[in-house]
Amino acid sequence: MNMISNHLPTEELQALDAAHHMHPFTAGADLARKGARVITRAKGVTLTDSNGVDILDGMAGLWCVNIGYGRDSIAEVAARQLKELPYYNTFFQTTHVPAIALAQKLAEMAPGDLNHVFYASGGSDANDTNVRLVRHYWAAKGKPEKKVIISRRNAYHGSTMAGASLGGMQPMHAQGGLPIADIVHIGQPNWWAEGGDMSPEEFGLARARELEAKIAELGEDKVAAFIAEPIQGAGGVIIPPSTYWPEIQRICDAHEILLIADEVICGFGRTGNMFGSQTYDIRPDIMTIAKGLSSGYAPIGGSLVSDEVANTVAEAGDFNHGYTYSGHPVSCAVALENLRIIEDEKLVENVSTHTGPYLAEKWAQLADHPLVGEAKIVGFMGSLAMTPDKASRAAFAAGAGTAGLICRDHCFANQLVMRHVGDRMIIAPPLILQKSDVDTLIERAVKSLDQTHAKLKAEGLM
Ligand code: PMP
Repeated sequence: MNMISNHLPTEELQALDAAHHMHPFTAGADLARKGARVITRAKGVTLTDSNGVDILDGMAGLWCVNIGYGRDSIAEVAARQLKELPYYNTFFQTTHVPAIALAQKLAEMAPGDLNHVFYASGGSDANDTNVRLVRHYWAAKGKPEKKVIISRRNAYHGSTMAGASLGGMQPMHAQGGLPIADIVHIGQPNWWAEGGDMSPEEFGLARARELEAKIAELGEDKVAAFIAEPIQGAGGVIIPPSTYWPEIQRICDAHEILLIADEVICGFGRTGNMFGSQTYDIRPDIMTIAKGLSSGYAPIGGSLVSDEVANTVAEAGDFNHGYTYSGHPVSCAVALENLRIIEDEKLVENVSTHTGPYLAEKWAQLADHPLVGEAKIVGFMGSLAMTPDKASRAAFAAGAGTAGLICRDHCFANQLVMRHVGDRMIIAPPLILQKSDVDTLIERAVKSLDQTHAKLKAEGLM
């Protein structure tokens, strides 16, 4: 039995963490000096740290704990599956009940004819699957030259070589020689930051038409697919103008381009429908899923694939692709129980008609705060754009993240996890959030915004 436990003093845990644990997306040396906050347990929408402090989790972990923390039935299902069949692969003409049952369930839930699933361990590797799958599909159709994938700047599609290449995050491309070949990017529908004098609707159309221009530039016979998140998550919860998605759908249809909706965040209720594609009337050929599929209780992701793409690939011989943990039985069993909870407890309805409208009303009022230029929310996915000048939508002169970092730290001190992306504050709480939790969330957010505002003024930053 390992001697390291929750009962060690926080400083000791932090020192061991600093000595041996490399954190994702973190400046390691800085964190080592400061010490990571140790989260020891969680229940419902509340985290508890090693000092016994309770924190409202406004981010559902990493946008994933849709059913909230501390579900006994998930633990029971996982334990049962671990005893019965902890692992078996699906590579060599074998299968197992959890993989079959989850595939059938996903086909039933998914919109359109997305009746097939290729399992992965998370969202990044599911997007790696998508890159190979769409190229293989077009090759099987006798069009091997159709292999370029068009994505968007400031998109997030994961951290693997293909996932980060699909993503449009410059700091990620700058490390490790990305993007890989035949992945290109167009502009994002971020009206607040990039819309200039256009109306949001004009800007949405203009950004969608960049796709058509890019297809024309490359040649329709060279383009395999377009990939996008229905709402960009890690990019700062960028809610697209209403004109954007209908135009993107028209362009993909007109030019025989496969449409991949990355539903890793939007999927499983977050936008007030089961999938973000339903919220925006998107008809994808492939959907990337992860996160809310298991609410983070076990690692699992996948690609939901249309009849046309799946059947073509099935007839084309071996698809030389797969992960040891594709269709992991424990993850599949956990995902099934998680989906049962989402449906039985009507969590999507909680987002669309019960708590969601209440949160939307309170969230919109934050736009009255002197620091907030825009407060937008769809379902349980919201953002605040902080600015020194609302009228011009100006950025802070001291650089991106000036207000964001300060506000994030105040939120944490005020027992609220709210994340910052540059100077945008974002939330994506568990779908079990109740109205009383909304009151707590808003109260802590306002307090943090007030403190941030005061500090920015005191330091002459606005
Ligand atoms: N796609 C999107 C839209 C995501 O938000 C994420 C994770 N934040 C991923 C892909 C990558 O998923 P994972 O971290 O499970 O690999």
